[in-house]
Amino acid sequence: MTSTVLTPPPCHGCGGASAHLVTTKDFNRKTTEASFQYFQCHRCRLVFMDPIPDDMRPFYKGGYQQIPASLAELRAIAADDLYRIDPVLRYKSSGKLLEIGPWIGAFSCNAKDAGFDVTAIEIDQNCVNFLNDCVGIRALQSSNPSSTMAELQESFDAIALGHCLEHLPEPWLVIQRAAERLAPGGILLITIPNIKSNEFAFLGAAWRHLDAPRHIYFYPPDSLRQLARSCGLEEVELTTTDRLSLLLSREAWHYWAVARFRLKYLRGAIGRLGFLISRRKALRDNSGSGITAVFRRPVSRG
Ligand SMILES: [Zn+2]
Repeated sequence: MTSTVLTPPPCHGCGGASAHLVTTKDFNRKTTEASFQYFQCHRCRLVFMDPIPDDMRPFYKGGYQQIPASLAELRAIAADDLYRIDPVLRYKSSGKLLEIGPWIGAFSCNAKDAGFDVTAIEIDQNCVNFLNDCVGIRALQSSNPSSTMAELQESFDAIALGHCLEHLPEPWLVIQRAAERLAPGGILLITIPNIKSNEFAFLGAAWRHLDAPRHIYFYPPDSLRQLARSCGLEEVELTTTDRLSLLLSREAWHYWAVARFRLKYLRGAIGRLGFLISRRKALRDNSGSGITAVFRRPVSRG
């Protein structure tokens, strides 16, 4: 294999100079043999894939969760994810909630059952139909959530972006529009993979949550904070060691070991050992494989 010299492109977000970070492949779904390059901005620290394939649809084949046959089936799936709404419930117990990228709607279903008036913006038309017809929430079909949010003539008490931002073009615009759509005192919940995690540092191109080429953008914690601040939001909480984030860490080690060791018991033990060592460090320096962050629109904007 011949090596090529990569010219770092300007940052997609701020135009700043960048440096090459990692070269990887679609190890998770193996939809292509192509390599994908990620760069990191020196200025805003955004990590971005470049170039971004023109048509992403081929890379999404074969990995979706099936649409449930009924609301009862969705509720059974959603019961396992109930904890994911806890960051919202710590600050809001009712009101209008907007979810971007709900897919089959486990989070939205739990939010509705918890008493929220839920709206969803989703790219997949079949999911939109399921959410409208079976789940009973208002779902809008859109491949451009920032422009759809700009058109909505209403504000929300909570907006949720659950492992969605990393898939979207121009995520900085999505955060900006979300900030504009929040009612005073409204909260924004963001969960994304943490590129500044122990797992990425150690596993690099094999880190499961790089998930190239479906994951286009990664915000390290401080970069996400800076973006939220620039949109007029204040930080309420940010962790990388909550239940969801540590689940991602565990998955990262598990799949890494499965891909490398043939003996089932050996890879199970190595995956668990990697996770346990990594978790100790993550609890000390906040470096788990996911970020769960809550930001708030101040009651009065200064
Ligand atoms: Zn930048």
